[in-house]
This record gives sequence, C-alpha cells and structure tokens, in this order.
Amino acid sequence: MNKLIDSFGRQMEYVRLAVTDRCNLRCQYCMPAHGIDIVPRQELLSFKEMYRLIRVLTELGVKKVRLTGGEPFVRKDFVGFLEMLSYNDLLDAINITTNGALISHHIDKIESLKKVKNINLSIDSLQRDKFAKITRRDVFPEVYKTFELLEKSSLNLKLNVVVQSGFNTDEIVDFVRLTKDKNVAVRFIEEMPFNGKGQRDMQENWTFKKILNEIKTEFSVDEIKAEKSSTSKNYKIEGHLGSVGIIPAFTRTICGDCNRIRITSTGTFKNCLFDDGVFNLRDFIRNGASNDDLKELFLSLVKDKPENGFIAESNRKKGNISESMSTIGG
Ligand code: SAM
Ligand code: SF4
Repeated sequence: MNKLIDSFGRQMEYVRLAVTDRCNLRCQYCMPAHGIDIVPRQELLSFKEMYRLIRVLTELGVKKVRLTGGEPFVRKDFVGFLEMLSYNDLLDAINITTNGALISHHIDKIESLKKVKNINLSIDSLQRDKFAKITRRDVFPEVYKTFELLEKSSLNLKLNVVVQSGFNTDEIVDFVRLTKDKNVAVRFIEEMPFNGKGQRDMQENWTFKKILNEIKTEFSVDEIKAEKSSTSKNYKIEGHLGSVGIIPAFTRTICGDCNRIRITSTGTFKNCLFDDGVFNLRDFIRNGASNDDLKELFLSLVKDKPENGFIAESNRKKGNISESMSTIGG
C-alpha cells in the first residue's frame, strides 16, 4: 500500500476534519463577538464527500480521524455521519472535539458506536459567570452536565482548557484538582492567534513552562512517557485518578513527529495548522476527480509538509494569521 510519508520520513496517520464552520458559541480567543463570515451551505463539504475523502485517506494508511469544527453538533445529522463513518473498516478510531452544549442527549447513541473512542470537551472555566464571559453564551450548566455524563460513560474523556491571560489562569489549579476523583485528562492549551483578528491581546504570555510552573505551585507531578506523535506533554499526580497535560500549541515544540493532516469544512487540505491551506479538495472532487486521482494528489501534497509550524507560518502567502480556529478546525 502507498503510504502518506512526507519528505522528513513522517507518516500521516491522523486526519482532523472540520465538519462545519458554524458554532453556537462565540469564544473570545476563537472569534469576534459578532461571529465569523460563515460560507454558504453549498460551499461546505457534504457528508458524502467527507466520507469519500476519509475513505481514500484510510486506503493510504490514515487510521484515526478527529471530527471538529466550528461545533460539529451544530451540523444537522452529525450523529448520522458518525454512524456512516463507523462503516469504514479501515478506520481504528473516530474522535470528536466539542463544546458540549448540544450533546447531552446524544451520549448514549455515541457510546454505542464502537469506533468513537475519545471525546475532547472544551471547558475554559468552572465558574458560570466567567464561562459566559469567555464563550459569550450562558451555557455552563449544560456543558457541565455533558461533562458529568461523559465522565460516567465508557468514552475516553479529555478536557480542553485554553489558558487565557487575565481570564482563567487563576483556575489552573482548580482544574488540576478535578483530576483527583475524576477519571479525566485535563489538557491546558497555549492560546494561539486564531481568533479571527490576528493578534493575541494578552498581558502575559502563558507558555507551556509558565503553565507547568503554576501547576507545580500546588502539586508534585511526574511526567508520563508520551505516545509517539502526542500533541501534549502529560503528567500524573500521586493519588489522582485522572491526569494533566499541556499542549504547546503556540511554542510548537511538538512538530518533530507530527503525523497529522487537516481538511477544513470547505475542503481545503492543510499540512499544518499554521499553513494557509494548500489545496481545494472540494473543487477537485466536484470537477470529477476519481479516487485514484485523489490518492495521487494526497501522496504528492504531503511531500510538501513543512518541517514545523514556524516554517509553515513563514511560508504563508495570504499574510499574517487572521483566520478563526472555527474555520480551520482546531
Ligand atoms: N467547537 C468545538 C470546541 O470548541 O471544542 C470544536 C472546534 S474548536 C475550534 C477546537 C479546539 O480549539 C477547542 O478546544 C478550542 O478551545 C480550541 N481553540 C480555539 N481557538 C483557539 C485559539 N485561538 N488558541 C488555542 N486553542 C483554540
Ligand atoms: Fe465555537 Fe469551539 Fe470556537 Fe468556541 S472554540 S467559538 S465553541 S468553535
């Protein structure tokens, strides 16, 4: 079988697919208060087109898919798509990133789909008022309910916490405390400039190191040997059921063994989160490309994968980062 191997010998096994650019929340670090300019519906990939792209990628060695957005559960019949994707026998795991505000009544169904293994739930504050300030929507009780249901379910649960200077850094220790009795991996993410404006307005730069030092003010942590291509550095605390992790999303120290590629909701292929999109797959397939054409294309596209996120950023043709994470699919 032909494999997706880049010019640095890294094999692509994981695809992140944004199923929509729409979202029910307006997180400050992701988009402006009025939202982003969403594209007309016909410009979004259909579920059939997504299924086909993933199928072709799995025939080239991709084993896992992460479905993200925008908010995946905003898209009509997203649960039906999960079911459809489960029929791909070459796929080992379907993972989902969600804000959790719309999913509590879907959890039983999701649990019944054996390929759906990991859910990342985004939750940036444990305080209702602060949560509403960050997301610009008052949905904390619903998100927390989802958290509790997921924690009791058989799904593997991770919490995504974007560390935002001046907003939630005082809660880092509270989030770590959650791991004492709950079987959950709390992952702190460095804030990136994907907020639809371009620049990060922050008083202090909360880097990986600074986050770790904050955790160490209360807890003594032991590093867990990371799985290859993991996006986070992970830690165990003695006597805690769960674990903590830090994702150096902005300082980008994890690029060396990256095995990920991305497809946006409009079908743009991305080799790196920080590139500005390298090919429009939607137009390619709508113009009649065959699966063999697609395979040939993917094999050649990954050859241009940049060595790391800094090089990808410096190669951008469209200028500085100004996209929202909800169009890229974080
Ligand atoms: N709506 C879903 C959610 O929020 O989980 C999925 C899409 S969201 C774009 C995916 C992840 O990206 C979330 O965990 C979110 O917190 C994170 N994210 C969004 N904007 C970010 C930024 N500027 N810096 C770091 N992480 C960001
Ligand atoms: Fe929506 Fe997720 Fe962006 Fe928040 S981070 S606005 S929930 S896409």
